[in-house]
Amino acid sequence: MDSTICSRCGAFPEDADHLLVGCTTAKNVWQHIWVWLKISIWAQSSTVREVLEGVQDQIRCKNWKKMVMVVTFATFWSIWRCRNEGIFNGNYIPTHKAAEMVKEETFIWMRNRYGPKVHIDFKILQEHYTDKITPPGQR
Ligand SMILES: [Zn+2]
Repeated sequence: MDSTICSRCGAFPEDADHLLVGCTTAKNVWQHIWVWLKISIWAQSSTVREVLEGVQDQIRCKNWKKMVMVVTFATFWSIWRCRNEGIFNGNYIPTHKAAEMVKEETFIWMRNRYGPKVHIDFKILQEHYTDKITPPGQR
């Protein structure tokens, strides 16, 4: 058994870019996220860098980008976790479920970072981010 071949699609070497962005499984998760956020321009992204640059290149306000970066990292995390569930526990997690995990994690991470009083309205993410969240430790 060749451990360097992707365990999910069996077609490509399993490096970080493939696992988190390029693999069909990853692309399906991202598809859910892009639809959720109503952004589609990174459909052709195939590397982690391209996804991160895709967020930065959006013409949106700083807070929107911050929030979408949280979503982006939650998505990487979710894909990684689902991959491990499959490999180590034989637990196949469908991509729509992985996308649900991203939404939950985003909420938890934002709460942890900005405190329990933070109001997170995911509709804002889809439209235009306003000042519902005021990050206290803004850089
Ligand atoms: Zn793959």
